[in-house]
Amino acid sequence: MSFQNPVFIPGPTNMPEAIRKACDMPTIDHRSPLFGQILHPVRANLQQILKSETAEIFIFPSTGTGGWETALTNTLSPGDKVLACRNGMFSQKWIDMCQRHGLDVQIIETSWGHGIPAGEMAGALMADTSHAIKAVLATHNETATGVKSDIRAIRNAIDAADHPAMLFVDGVSSIASMDFQFDTWGVDVAVTGSQKGFMLPAGLAIVGFSQRALDATKTAKLPRTFFDINDMTAGYAANAYPYTPAVGLMNGLLLATETLLGEGLDNVFARHHRIASGVRTAVDAWGLELCAANPDVQSDTVSAILTPEGFNASDIVSHAAEKYGVAFGTGLGEVAGKVFRIGHLGSMTDVMALSGIATAEMCMADLGLDIKLGSGVAAAQDYYRGNTTQTLKDAA
Ligand SMILES: *Cc1c(COP(=O)(O)O)cnc(C)c1O
Repeated sequence: MSFQNPVFIPGPTNMPEAIRKACDMPTIDHRSPLFGQILHPVRANLQQILKSETAEIFIFPSTGTGGWETALTNTLSPGDKVLACRNGMFSQKWIDMCQRHGLDVQIIETSWGHGIPAGEMAGALMADTSHAIKAVLATHNETATGVKSDIRAIRNAIDAADHPAMLFVDGVSSIASMDFQFDTWGVDVAVTGSQKGFMLPAGLAIVGFSQRALDATKTAKLPRTFFDINDMTAGYAANAYPYTPAVGLMNGLLLATETLLGEGLDNVFARHHRIASGVRTAVDAWGLELCAANPDVQSDTVSAILTPEGFNASDIVSHAAEKYGVAFGTGLGEVAGKVFRIGHLGSMTDVMALSGIATAEMCMADLGLDIKLGSGVAAAQDYYRGNTTQTLKDAA
């Protein structure tokens, strides 16, 4: 595998050189004011990226999965009921985590390729007149299927039912790449990680808590130690952690957040939308379909592309790695072998995306699919020529 090629997996994403270097720093005392000079600005920047005035930000040496556990264990008690939709591998894994923690999960089964049905959520909440449901879990962007869901609609469903349930959102593959509005959407816990939109290696779980979620920790009885946010809060006041923080990664995160805010969040989101639209134009030119069932749910961070019946889509991924040294994502769970995924989030430009589209074309042609070389590339080129707003600040 050549290290010169960009990766097109939906995380870990490509690392800009400057951000990579920022992770590489000498040892400092992580209980000193010097560490505070990383910790406090990074938390303030993350608040801005979540679009929140008040969210308490916690950063754990962990991954997105640890962020899920932070959300659950700090706010819920064994046997508590939660409402969740299963529409892909990541929502499935979060549900599995709930069940392993002894939570009672009411599951809204949704076919993979569709977004969370807010109407069904509203129905389930209205039917829950005793308010047994303590939290609603929503995966903002299903990375397995390339499907985004409308979080505002889910908040509206909770409000329409006049239900007190908290709203927990997995934003691991959306936050910092697609618009996320913690305050406006009334999110109670938002979860993300370092290795997707933040363009860093894996190693940090990033979690935002609303005041309501913080209050819930007072009565939550699920066991927690490593992910206890109260221990974390006590440490933060003294520039410290209850254990050893991943200082280098956090220094990288400081630069990553500065880079994103410097580009401007609206520009970051527009760039992701433009790049994704070019990829979708190419898919269309190939005569293939996305797993995402309709344009409203198409993700701007990852495209899951259906291949013809009888063809193993994973062959594209292994062939791309072996012959061209390029990484695409395989299909997961129910869509294994049916889709391959092009990740187009993080440090990505139109030109990088074109190289991924060109590589996918070569692989599909090599493997005997009826794909005309250059067809997707030309379609995407046309799209980018007409829509580019590339500036020097883009994708530093
Ligand atoms: C990647 C991902 C996760 C898991 O994150 P890890 O950092 O691998 O633990 C969870 N949810 C979504 C939507 C993801 O894309």
